[in-house]
Amino acid sequence: MTRLHASAVLDYPFEAPATDGSVVEIAPGILWARMPMPMALDHINVYLLRGDAGWTLIDTGLNTDTARARWEHIAAKHLQGLPIVRLVCTHMHYDHAGLASWLCERFDIPLHMTHGEYFMMRALSEPIPDPLPPSQMLFYQRAGLPQERLDRMWNAMRQDPFRAPQPQSFTRLRGGDVIRLGTRDWRVVIGEGHSPEHACLYCEQERILIAGDQLLPRISSNVLVTSIEPEANPLQLWLDSLSRLEGLAPDTLVLPSHERVFRGLHARTQELREHHQRQFDMLREHLAEHQACTAFEAMLCLFPRLRGPVDDMLALGETIAHLSWLRYAGVLRRVLDEDGVYRFRLA
Ligand SMILES: [Zn+2]
Repeated sequence: MTRLHASAVLDYPFEAPATDGSVVEIAPGILWARMPMPMALDHINVYLLRGDAGWTLIDTGLNTDTARARWEHIAAKHLQGLPIVRLVCTHMHYDHAGLASWLCERFDIPLHMTHGEYFMMRALSEPIPDPLPPSQMLFYQRAGLPQERLDRMWNAMRQDPFRAPQPQSFTRLRGGDVIRLGTRDWRVVIGEGHSPEHACLYCEQERILIAGDQLLPRISSNVLVTSIEPEANPLQLWLDSLSRLEGLAPDTLVLPSHERVFRGLHARTQELREHHQRQFDMLREHLAEHQACTAFEAMLCLFPRLRGPVDDMLALGETIAHLSWLRYAGVLRRVLDEDGVYRFRLA
């Protein structure tokens, strides 16, 4: 679940561009633009890197007519007579890659992505079966989710308005690769937990990090367990990824995918660690009081104010991610009760 934290310690050196196709230059040849999104989180940041041969685009915005119009505007007004030469998508989520197919065809450019992100995107492009396959149903039944909430959740997911055509090929990014984009060398730093193989890009020389969703200044990124990999421990992967980012220079300028460009990387990773620690503490306190709970009951404890079926899906996945972390750490145990539902207890 996205949660806002007020942070006094981060420094925001630039005013954000509007979502009307205007751009802000944050370093020589690095432009920041914003694509609008029709939801509570109302924008995604995209970046453009100028090189001698042309521009590299970082991320796309949602598959909407408005976002396409913004790209047309940017291409017409802000590219200083140079072509677009490639698209990099940090990860497969539809605000980051929803226009990948369109941009690649429109500007005749290659798509650069990690293997994990590209194939997860392709796999999830299939329509969701109705009814859900038994193995997926089982995941939610074991979580204790009431049937009507499960139906509501999947009906909402089936009506996803941003489903996008898929790019048919890609160029692979790998962790540790150093690639030339624009006039700078960027090292690919992989993050996990929010998505399978999320690419951040780090310019060592100038200490600039294109962070995607791995490091946002006020929102905590979704870290979910889903029915696809029910025994996963994504929160451990996420915390390990924060450790990798903590190896970068303290004065790094962070270019996140949402909200504003900032400095204060280490303060922010620390806040995120504290955020997850608070969730762990809440679950332990809840269990100390109630002896046992299902994942659904734990979700109502962590997220008492859910606003609809998509919230349910994110909150349940995030709750199970925290329960799984505590279970793998030996703090909780999980028992499959006779009614077919997992119950968690303090170990
Ligand atoms: Zn994302």
